[in-house]
Amino acid sequence: MGNYISTRGDKQVLTASEAILRGLANDGGLYIPREFPNLDIELQELLELDYKELAYEIMKVFLEDFTEEELKSCIEKAYGKNFSDTRIAPIRNIGDIGVLELFHGPTLAFKDMALTILPHLMTTAIKKQGVDEKVVILTATSGDTGKAALEGFADVDGTEIIVFYPKNGVSKIQELQMVTQKGKNTHVIGIDGNFDDAQTGVKDIFENDSFNSELSKRGYKLSSANSINIGRLVPQVVYYFWGYMQLVKNDDIKLGDEINFVVPTGNYGNILAGYWAKKLGLPINKLICASNDNNILTDFINTGKYDIDREFIKTISPSMDILVSSNLERLLFELSNADFVSNALGNLKSIGNYGIDEEMHNSLKNNFYGGYCNEIDTLKTIEEVNRKYKYIMDTHTAVAYKVYKNYIRDIEDKTKTIVISTASPYKFAKSVLEGLGANCEAEGADLIYELSKYYEDEIPAGINGIEKEAIMHSNNINNDEMKNAVDKILK
Ligand SMILES: *Cc1c(COP(=O)(O)O)cnc(C)c1O
Repeated sequence: MGNYISTRGDKQVLTASEAILRGLANDGGLYIPREFPNLDIELQELLELDYKELAYEIMKVFLEDFTEEELKSCIEKAYGKNFSDTRIAPIRNIGDIGVLELFHGPTLAFKDMALTILPHLMTTAIKKQGVDEKVVILTATSGDTGKAALEGFADVDGTEIIVFYPKNGVSKIQELQMVTQKGKNTHVIGIDGNFDDAQTGVKDIFENDSFNSELSKRGYKLSSANSINIGRLVPQVVYYFWGYMQLVKNDDIKLGDEINFVVPTGNYGNILAGYWAKKLGLPINKLICASNDNNILTDFINTGKYDIDREFIKTISPSMDILVSSNLERLLFELSNADFVSNALGNLKSIGNYGIDEEMHNSLKNNFYGGYCNEIDTLKTIEEVNRKYKYIMDTHTAVAYKVYKNYIRDIEDKTKTIVISTASPYKFAKSVLEGLGANCEAEGADLIYELSKYYEDEIPAGINGIEKEAIMHSNNINNDEMKNAVDKILK
């Protein structure tokens, strides 16, 4: 008996490994645990564990049909020397705030925290379910998921990976990282639209029954590496516990004290994982949802109305340039039920908005706070933090930091707080250099060398020498040609 159901009411109940393989439910919904699991270990005991041991304790309660051996083997392969810091996700004190750095993985963004393990969960699931079709990972990316998924799935037996990214919506370094990807099973395609177009296009392909049965005849089965996949979310719950335990070990808090997390948010995957950590019993006061000028989530949390009737703004924190935040669907389900979710998402598609009632809104506000930071303040924050603390933040982290500063200006809350840092400044070198007031005239990989002058450490391995790598992918299409592109690749 499984534990995963769709947010839109499909009656099927799946095991974790089935849900990971499918990615998206047949009715277009997302998988969530029917019964939310409990930890079978005390918080106190978690203090003693290293990252991998902790990951096992947290993940096993979600992945009920993975054996101990299977899960431990996935974890062992995921979190090793591919991370440049043995603590995997170290915490740095910046004034009173703890900054949890989630960018020490192979592709320098927090997506590595889950995408180093997802391919192993997927291949385990393929074996467990006796799948003999080739699994095709379809991925839409605002820049970071693409590279992390490519890196994770490159040359993994039994898989192909296809990544769609907004051609003009990612940083130069992000693009270089993707188009230089090696691996016979990797495909990278730039589209003419924005991230929402890419994500919608991918979802449409998933929901296209005739196309899926045609692919099935050819021996292919689609799955997803986006945070719509439950296999992406579950590994992300781990570092909330990890961050908390580090504060306890450093004597910054006592075990049992509540803390806040500030999360730079796009698709609501990261922050939802934080909410799940809270539901598992981690003492969290507020989850602070930080947005850039695409502040649809700020408005939603403040007003209870989700309204996409607004301009899509290209910002210097492009991984958060999203208007249709897909994981919000999981939260909506928890606040209501499948009928409500189907209706709301239907309205979003047809009239571009939906609202929640007062009770739902109150429970949303009890757990989350929403704020946003504009472009100028993002740059100023990078400068200010570096001046005061000799610490360089990437643009997404700067958004989160500034939203927190605004939060404690507006609301008296002395709760210890962790800001989640989602990317290495190197990935967004041009904007970071601009924020620092440094020379940002350089282009492409030269920006990396310009920024490296600010660091004593070497340039991270993931991007060092990237300009010498061969360009492997140069396919660009219109956003209405995505299905054709998949069709061609899988001929
Ligand atoms: C993906 C990403 C985000 C947004 O995370 P979600 O889980 O989509 O909310 C924020 N910052 C960076 C650097 C990212 O790559």
